[in-house]
Amino acid sequence: MMFKINDNYLKLPGSYLFSTIGKKVNAFTEANPDKPIIRLGIGDVTQPLAPAIIDSLHNAVDEMANAETFHGYAPDLGYEFLRSAIAKNDYQARGCDIAADEVFISDGAKCDSGNIQEIFSLDNKIAVCDPVYPVYVDTNVMAGRTGIYNAATEMWSNVIYMPCTAETNFAPELPKETPDIIYLCFPNNPTGSTLTKSQLQEWIDYANKAGAVIIYDAAYEAYITEEDVPHTIYECEGARSCAIELRSFSKNAGFTGVRLGATIIPKDLKSGDVTLHSLWARRHGTKYNGAPYIVQRAGEAVYSEEGKAQLKKQVAYYMNNAKVIYEGLKDAGYKVSGGVNAPYIWLQTPKGMTSWEFFDYLLENANVVGTPGSGFGPSGEGYFRLTAFGSYENTVEAIERIKRKG
Ligand code: PLP
Repeated sequence: MMFKINDNYLKLPGSYLFSTIGKKVNAFTEANPDKPIIRLGIGDVTQPLAPAIIDSLHNAVDEMANAETFHGYAPDLGYEFLRSAIAKNDYQARGCDIAADEVFISDGAKCDSGNIQEIFSLDNKIAVCDPVYPVYVDTNVMAGRTGIYNAATEMWSNVIYMPCTAETNFAPELPKETPDIIYLCFPNNPTGSTLTKSQLQEWIDYANKAGAVIIYDAAYEAYITEEDVPHTIYECEGARSCAIELRSFSKNAGFTGVRLGATIIPKDLKSGDVTLHSLWARRHGTKYNGAPYIVQRAGEAVYSEEGKAQLKKQVAYYMNNAKVIYEGLKDAGYKVSGGVNAPYIWLQTPKGMTSWEFFDYLLENANVVGTPGSGFGPSGEGYFRLTAFGSYENTVEAIERIKRKG
């Protein structure tokens, strides 16, 4: 007898996108030690935490040093002060009907976007945008929900792919086959595309009619600049009965290393008589360790007047980089999109190059590292992602190099 593993993990194809990139970059650097590389590839932020957040962290650390103000285990679903701050600032201030007890504090949107599928039966068919953040599909693979992988098409037999192509401004169309669980991520990683409020409303109406649930990833909400782009799915009518929303403090406030997020599950969201709210509360109480008190206090500071002003500047800094990339590439004759409501610029690879051919081309000729679009789904082939998270100086230099040599 031998213990058995979850062999769904063995179905995951190939090596992880970013490890392949890492290997290629290391090989290049070894062979060309005199050529400094600029990374416009990885989706991690680079600016330090804002002063208001640092102050809040320091204060919370000091509280831990005294018996009277020490905090042990955090409440299962998060501290009330943070749940209320999120409900009030991110929802009620926008006219959305979300209460503090519908906000579940998490250690990030990645974790919850992976974990949320646990409260659904394996007997559900998922639909995903193509291309998109790979975690949605990969976690469903690990759970055994995705069927058989076809290496030629790079698709799973039991996943509905919704191509997001130039013809539709990189927005998905309503699928012909009805899914049970629909993952939407807007502003989108990697394309930087968005849906208008009326476009998103169509998805809500569709899901409510079909009895499907939407898992809406709002990780890049802070980057929205256009009026008609919703900041949350609950700006749409009827979303309370069909949508879960994932939020992150990573890209709006620099918490990629600190770790903090929130998942919104309205109490109206039911399968038969069972609320998803009650299932997720149970899951949180059993399997979630909680974001630390210190981190939740830091999250609260994101909503202080000082914090808001400082973070607005930080987002503007990255969005200025996005503009440098977008306009620079356009001047250089590239076909580009994104970059207006998102820190991602999506470009069509020139001269019919594949995504990976263009990766090598850019690395060798401009010493700039980006991310091949094919890593985000089959419809990403022929595209390439650049990110606005670098320093301004590096971003300008990278674009100059691409203009000169790329
Ligand atoms: N969701 C999307 C769409 C992302 O692109 C990312 C990170 O790149 C995340 C979630 C991860 O968020 P977090 O850092 O809160 O786990």
